[in-house]
Amino acid sequence: MKISKLHEKKKVVFSFEIFPPKPQYPIETVYDTLEALGDLSPDFISVTYGAGGSVRENRTSELSGMIKHKLKIEPMAHLTCVGSRKADINTILAELQAGGIQNILALRGDIPEGGALDSDFTYAADLIRYIKETTDFDIAAACYPEKHTECESLEKDIEHLKQKVDCGVGHLVTQLFFYNDHFYDFCDKIETKGIHVPVTAGIMPMVNKKQMERMATMCGAQIPEKHRQMMEKYGDDPAAMREAGIIYALEQIVDLIANGVRGIHIYTMNNPLVARKISMYLQNILASVNES
Ligand code: FAD
Repeated sequence: MKISKLHEKKKVVFSFEIFPPKPQYPIETVYDTLEALGDLSPDFISVTYGAGGSVRENRTSELSGMIKHKLKIEPMAHLTCVGSRKADINTILAELQAGGIQNILALRGDIPEGGALDSDFTYAADLIRYIKETTDFDIAAACYPEKHTECESLEKDIEHLKQKVDCGVGHLVTQLFFYNDHFYDFCDKIETKGIHVPVTAGIMPMVNKKQMERMATMCGAQIPEKHRQMMEKYGDDPAAMREAGIIYALEQIVDLIANGVRGIHIYTMNNPLVARKISMYLQNILASVNES
């Protein structure tokens, strides 16, 4: 099913993100994670593409196919266009189509150190336009409540986001954030600029001190003082840090749902334990909003 249609049916769409194993590891290493996530019956699972600038071995199509056909859950395949020619993109689109995949998160990708590569696409908007013109995929795009790190201002970034949405985006997924107020302000701002598609909040439970510091720096997300204290207190105790991170994320999510968020996307970091705990605590809340 197309995720945009799912948004028409449900008040809050609940989903997970996973990443494929690095090319040197067999694809089977992610199967247990996938099956554990599948047991939690999310509305969809997204699969990243060449994340972190690693070699672009396209295991995204294969994993998306597995999510669709083995787990019977809707997949959303991420696709980046930096350094890609139309022919490369055509190959992947054909693979996804052959696998019955209907949903793509269309991205530019990070510019590698040393500058932009030769490419038929400059921005995600170019990729979105191309996919829209040549196929029938349901297209999502990324958005940044605290602005994209390269952009000079949030206002300018929202102008660019509007261009992306106008190319044919059905829904948006945010970069991780820790202050819900940043998300609410962002939603108000994009509404006034004429962006009315559903916005799903990307939530990363902060269960590991090092990983979190790296992610927040990479993404430009502001870390609340409360969270810094939490990392200081529990950061060296993995079990305590995991529980604290899950509780913080749950607090964020409960508040977002109470304030009308249209979707929650958990960056699972391939950790089914974290996803399971979050799903367990949200079960009644999601049932309550979606049945009301
Ligand atoms: P764009 O929308 O093209 O924006 C990139 C920058 O260009 C922004 O600063 C924007 O303001 C600016 N810009 C856009 N249009 C114009 C214009 N016309 N003129 C001037 N400036 C412009 N990366 C991966 O490699 N693999 C993944 O699977 C992946 N998944 C992600 C999932 C989510 C939900 C998010 C939020 C990010 C993900 N990323 C992933 C990271 C993403 O690729 C980077 O953030 C990348 O730097 C920007 O991608 P984009 O699609 O937002 O780019």
